[in-house]
Amino acid sequence: MIAAFAGVACLLLALPPASAGQEDGRGQADAEPAVTLGAIKFRDELISAQEALLNGYRCRFGVDAEQVEGGCEDGLPKQALPAPGPFEGSPSQGALNRRDRLIAAQAQMLNAFRCRYDYHTSSSAVPRGCSVGTPSLSLDFRPEPASLPNSGGLPRMLVTSLGVSVAVLAETVNGYVVLTPCGNFAEVSAGTPIHRPRVVIDPGHGGRYDIGARGPNGLAEKDLNLNLAHALFEELARREIPAAFTRTGDYDIPLSVRATFADLSGAEALVSLHHNAPTSRIGGGEPGTEVYIQSESRDRPRADSSRLGGLLYEESVAALSGFDGVEWASRYDAGVMRVLSSERSDAYGMIRRPKLPTALMEYGYLSNPTEADLFATGEYLREAARATANAIEAFLNTDRPGAKPNTTPRIFDPSRAPTRCDEPALE
Ligand SMILES: [Zn+2]
Repeated sequence: MIAAFAGVACLLLALPPASAGQEDGRGQADAEPAVTLGAIKFRDELISAQEALLNGYRCRFGVDAEQVEGGCEDGLPKQALPAPGPFEGSPSQGALNRRDRLIAAQAQMLNAFRCRYDYHTSSSAVPRGCSVGTPSLSLDFRPEPASLPNSGGLPRMLVTSLGVSVAVLAETVNGYVVLTPCGNFAEVSAGTPIHRPRVVIDPGHGGRYDIGARGPNGLAEKDLNLNLAHALFEELARREIPAAFTRTGDYDIPLSVRATFADLSGAEALVSLHHNAPTSRIGGGEPGTEVYIQSESRDRPRADSSRLGGLLYEESVAALSGFDGVEWASRYDAGVMRVLSSERSDAYGMIRRPKLPTALMEYGYLSNPTEADLFATGEYLREAARATANAIEAFLNTDRPGAKPNTTPRIFDPSRAPTRCDEPALE
C-alpha cells in the first residue's frame, strides 16, 4: 500500500490534455478536438486514485481517519475504494472541467499532507515545494492575518443560497469548489462570500445524530448553541468584527470538518459554544462556567488559547452572575482549564484539532432546571452573546490578559463524537 503512493503521485503528473483520450466512441479522435469518453474515464479513475491516496494519508498520519470508509488498521485503510461507476450522458467540456477542478483541489489536499508531514516533498509531486503559503490551499495552512486580502480575491468561506457554511477551495468559471459540512468536495454556483473572518463561531453538536445535552424543559443543546451563535454573530457584526460559522443550521458536521473550516478561514480565533450536562456537585451560588483551552505541551497551556479562554470566562461569569433566581450548578474545578485524556493530550477533539487559537465554552448546566429555563430566554441569549463578544473583541484588539487557567488539568476521556454525516442541501 505504501509503495502505491509513489505510483499515484506519478499518475498525477501524467494527466493528458482533454483531447488525448483514445477511445472517443466514434473511432476518430482527431477530426475535432471534442471531449472524449476516454478523457472522462481517465479523470474518473484519477479522482478515484486520489481519493484512495488521500485515505492512505489519512490513515498513515492519523488525520481525519474517521473520514475513511471502513476505518484504518495499522496505518492503512481497511477497505479498498470501489472503482468509479460508468459515465452517463454525453462527454462535454463542462463535465471535463468539473473533473479537472476536482483533481486540482484533491492535489492541493494531498500536497498539504506532503508538506505537513515532509513526505514525498522532494519529488515533483509538490510543484513549488513546501514553504509558507505553498501549497496555497492546504488543510493545515494558516496564513498570518496580515497576508490575507481585506476584500476581493478568493473568499475563505461562503454561505450558500440555502444558508450552509462551507470552506472555499477554488474558484471556477461556474462558481466555487468547496469543502462541504461532511468533508466532501462539491461545486456551488454562488453564495455570500466571507472574505476575511476574524473569528469562527462553532455551535456545538447539530443534526440528527448529535443532539448534545437536553434540558428538563425539552431544550436541546444543539438548538441552544445555534441560537446563541446567531445572537453572537449579530453582536459581532454590530462591532464590525467579521465572523464565520462552522454550522449555520441543524445539520451534521464532524469535528474534523469544523476544525478544517476554522483553519481554512484564516481567522484569528475559534470559539466553540456548548452547554453542560449533569454534574454530581450541585450548588455554589455562581455560574459553573467551564472553559477548555489548548495545550502547548503536556505540562503547559498554549498562551493565546489561554488568554482567549480567560477573557471568555471573566466576561461570561460576570454577565451570568447578574441573573437572579438561578440555582447554579458547578463542579469544584469550574473555571478555565485544560482537559487531558489519560494519554495526557488534549481530550476534546474540538480543542485538539484546530491550529488557530481555540476555546470551548460550557456556559452553564442545561441539565439543571433553573438554568435550562434561563437559557430558553432571549434575555439570556443577548447577555451571553454580549459577554462573549466583549471577550472576543478584547482578545482581538487588546492585550488584556484574562483569568488565569486552573493549575491542575482535569483528566477525562470523553466518548467519541458521532461521525455519521448526511450532507445538507447546499443550493
Ligand atoms: Zn456540548
